[in-house]
Amino acid sequence: MRTQVAIVGAGPAGLVLSHLLHLRGIDSVVLELRSRDYVEQRVRAGVLEQGTVELLQATGVGERLGRQGMVHHGIELRFGGRRHRIPLTELTGRSITIYGQQEIVKDLIRARLEAGGTVLFEVEGVRLQGLASDRPVVSYRHGGQDVELACDLVAGCDGYHGVCRDAIPAGTLTVYERLYPFAWLGVLAAVAPSAEEIVYTSHQRGFALHSMRSPELTRLYLQVDPDEPIERWPDERIWEELQTRLATEDGWTLGEGPILEKGVSAMRSFVVEPMQFGRLFLAGDAAHIVPATGAKGMNLAIADVQVLAEALATWYRTGEDGLLGGYSAACLRRVWRVQDFSAWMTGMLHRYPDDDGFQRRLRRARLEYVAGSEAAARSLAENYVGLERV
Ligand SMILES: Cc1cc2nc3c(=O)[nH]c(=O)nc-3n(C[C@H](O)[C@H](O)[C@H](O)COP(=O)(O)OP(=O)(O)OC[C@H]3O[C@@H](n4cnc5c(N)ncnc54)[C@H](O)[C@@H]3O)c2cc1C
Repeated sequence: MRTQVAIVGAGPAGLVLSHLLHLRGIDSVVLELRSRDYVEQRVRAGVLEQGTVELLQATGVGERLGRQGMVHHGIELRFGGRRHRIPLTELTGRSITIYGQQEIVKDLIRARLEAGGTVLFEVEGVRLQGLASDRPVVSYRHGGQDVELACDLVAGCDGYHGVCRDAIPAGTLTVYERLYPFAWLGVLAAVAPSAEEIVYTSHQRGFALHSMRSPELTRLYLQVDPDEPIERWPDERIWEELQTRLATEDGWTLGEGPILEKGVSAMRSFVVEPMQFGRLFLAGDAAHIVPATGAKGMNLAIADVQVLAEALATWYRTGEDGLLGGYSAACLRRVWRVQDFSAWMTGMLHRYPDDDGFQRRLRRARLEYVAGSEAAARSLAENYVGLERV
């Protein structure tokens, strides 16, 4: 088999890349380990920067997003039992949209298949060869057949646990990493959201987040210990802890409902440099992870492939490899800005095991500054709605 670009992974990065390449007349094959059903049901991110929304709408995959996405013009910071609104749109002229990552994945898969694109599910044993040559080959097993896919380039969009990053020879990449001493217990509950905007709460017992997926579904998170077994969190305990951390002085109430899903995710900052080796280009979580506090992971993955699609289109059209050669540097500038913002939000809102009175007071001072100063709030807002895209 032969294609122009072999894309490993049908998450947001791989699917958006395949879609953008198709619009530029470039052929790709997407190879996905999991089933279509699995990737379409996987609940993860849900906050879209305006740049992400604009891209999806401008490229013809934003119709359902436009109908079902919930446009938000602010977020709430909650601490000391008080609420403080950060008016994102008033401060930046931009907004965010709540729309589940799995819905974006569904829209993109449908668009790719309707356009005659090749997205293969349940592909096993992906291996990359010849990355340092100009004729790389991706081998895999699909439908009981061993296949060799020859291509011009490989896009490694296979997430943090994928195989592409590991195909790069040892010693080529520099890894930058921070593990946080806490995790997030996330739940999806069948109950109408209790607030109109996302609520970020700093409480002495730890961070809590109230978000939403639809008018009937609420997404909630609690800071827990990093190795916390989920069995220790029966539904009643989750609601009790959420009620305690989210409580306000003004009698706001949190509606409860059946918990449909729950899971614990580690909090990590991770970057590899460079994001390229020979004919392999890493994008999204395969190259970097941010702690979820800034709601940036998926947006960053999509921003990467926008840069990559543009660079590939120029290369195919003109033979000029300047943009492709600059791919890693161009992405890393955004990646580190987002890393800084995500780490800053995480530090401001979470309780740390080694906290002392000094640390707690610094954190409180930071929260009060953001809540009370327009300049500080604008800085948060500018990063939260997302920096300009290429
Ligand atoms: C539990 C959880 C909750 C999250 N919550 C948020 C949030 O609230 N906000 C936010 O902004 N971000 C969140 N994120 C991060 C966000 O979901 C990711 O940043 C985003 O999915 C990155 O997209 P991606 O396409 O780079 O990677 P992924 O979405 O991980 O896609 C990679 C794809 O590659 C496939 N794959 C892996 N290995 C192979 C292989 N060997 N062969 C073929 N295919 C392979 C995977 O099955 C997957 O479909 C969350 C992540 C997790 C895990």
